[in-house]
Amino acid sequence: MGWNKTDMANEVCFRTLELDRPWLLEQYRSRGGYETLTRVLKEKVDPAEIVEELKASGLRGRGGAGFPTGLKWSFISRNAPGQKYIVCNSDEGEPGTFKDRDILRYNPHAVIEGMVIAGYAVGATAGYNYIRGEFWEPYERFEGALKEAREAGFLGKNILGSGADFELHTHLGAGAYICGEETGLLESLEGKKGQPRFKPPFPAHFGLYGRPTIINNTETLASVPDILRNGGAWFRDIGVENSGGPKLFSVSGNVNKPGNYEIPMGTPFAKLLEMAGGMKDGRPLKAVIPGGSSAPVIPGDMMMDLTMDYDCIARAGSMLGSGAVILIDDRHCMVRVLERMAYFYYEESCGQCTPCREGTGWMYRVIHRIETGEGRQEDLDLLDDVAARIQGRTICALGDAAAMPVAGMLKHYRDEFQYHIDHRKCLVGSGS
Ligand code: SF4
Repeated sequence: MGWNKTDMANEVCFRTLELDRPWLLEQYRSRGGYETLTRVLKEKVDPAEIVEELKASGLRGRGGAGFPTGLKWSFISRNAPGQKYIVCNSDEGEPGTFKDRDILRYNPHAVIEGMVIAGYAVGATAGYNYIRGEFWEPYERFEGALKEAREAGFLGKNILGSGADFELHTHLGAGAYICGEETGLLESLEGKKGQPRFKPPFPAHFGLYGRPTIINNTETLASVPDILRNGGAWFRDIGVENSGGPKLFSVSGNVNKPGNYEIPMGTPFAKLLEMAGGMKDGRPLKAVIPGGSSAPVIPGDMMMDLTMDYDCIARAGSMLGSGAVILIDDRHCMVRVLERMAYFYYEESCGQCTPCREGTGWMYRVIHRIETGEGRQEDLDLLDDVAARIQGRTICALGDAAAMPVAGMLKHYRDEFQYHIDHRKCLVGSGS
């Protein structure tokens, strides 16, 4: 699985793809890299202008929550005294998502440039990139890029003689899904157990070491330089209303060409499927998980009429999330698919709050007994009930992330679950 060329005119994060060894500074600069930062610093662009341009671009957080980036940056007062931080979330643990690691591997300087600009905009002089522990090659590429950027004067003290300082460090996580949650990540970065914090206060007010902190996803920060170079309206107009810009979609599952595709928001799903080479072995598309494993499933025929943007996917009862599109063909049993996902959330719950700690275990055990032919008639109502009692009652979004797929599966594929209970075997036959 790798990345795939699409339409360069619409690309931001992968625009360097046509270059040889695109991760090198020389290559990044050959396509205008660091020009935005240089202009911002040399012309002493008003930080408020930067924030307004981001707001105008319609850029929304690419890590899953989709929060407007410009608005997030506006929560920090640049002139507030004391240390502030920029943190990049490269933990990328959402099952099905594999885009941020490719940005770090192929376009690390865009992330660095975006972070230095973010630091300038909010008055932060230090930043961290929290990279998932297993991402060794992306980590090495990013470290190499940091070295190049420092040597070229784009990082450190008195950047390009402007008087602005920004130092940037990498931190390798240890593979816990919950450290992708922003406050769990901050706890981990501080050297503690990666357990999410109660919010509010939000990181913009009480972040890393209790200081104001902007935390953004890798793809979000990598988009910043091009937005400021070409203008917010340029980025917004690539996408559709309420979903600005292009976005990376990680396509996996039963397709011929799994990989990352950077396409305009609002592109028909059918077009994305075509780009990914269509369904493997020509099988019918049974179901799609459109935004990572936390996103409720959408039946394949319904999905063919949708477009890839926040509003359209939300209207269909799911979410765009991190842009991880998992396609499932008709050979797969949805009970088994859900069992795997339920086990993942059960394993990854940090155990802090009761509905999540106990509920994820309950859901997994009930789904497991249905899958293994031990299901009881009352189990489907029990599952619905447990999922409903988790949602909205937990400290962080993992509880909802575990419950929503259960509700989605029961809504669209209840007959398969019922068949397992009635006949103690699978309706589909082969399982997954
Ligand atoms: Fe931990 Fe789950 Fe509570 Fe999140 S919802 S804080 S993962 S127990």
